[in-house]
Amino acid sequence: MDCIFCAIVEGSIPGDMVYEDDDVVAFKDINPKAPVHVLIVPRRHVRSVNELTEEDAGLIGHICLVARRLAHELGVAQSGYRIVSNNGPDGGQEVDHLHVHLLGGRQMRALG
Ligand code: AMP
Ligand code: ZN
Repeated sequence: MDCIFCAIVEGSIPGDMVYEDDDVVAFKDINPKAPVHVLIVPRRHVRSVNELTEEDAGLIGHICLVARRLAHELGVAQSGYRIVSNNGPDGGQEVDHLHVHLLGGRQMRALG
C-alpha cells in the first residue's frame, strides 16, 4: 500500500517528529497553516473516522489527549488551539490515513 503517513510511521521517509508512543506518532505539518501545526497519526493504518469501530474508542481518545499534551508542550494551551480531522472528499481529506491536526499560535477563523 502506498501511504505517505505509513511511510513516516515506519521511518522510510522522514517526518519532523514531536511525539511518539506505542500507538501514535505526531509530526510537524510540511505545509503549516499556523505557527503551531502538528499532525497526530495512529501507527496503524486507518483510512478515516469512517473506518473507526467501538474497539477504537481508546485510540481516538488517546489521540485527543496527545493533542492536549502537545498543546501544552508547544505553548498554545492557554492562548487556545484547534483540533480537526478532515474526512472524505467534502471534508477536504488529502491523505487517506486518519490524522488529527493541532493548530495554534494565531487566531483561527470561523469554520466554513
Ligand atoms: P488533510 O487535508 O487533512 O488530509 O491534510 C493532510 C496534511 O498532511 C496537509 O496539511 C499536508 O500539508 C500534510 N502533509 C502531506 N505530506 C506530508 C509530509 N510528508 N509530512 C508532513 N505533513 C505532510
Ligand atoms: Zn497509512
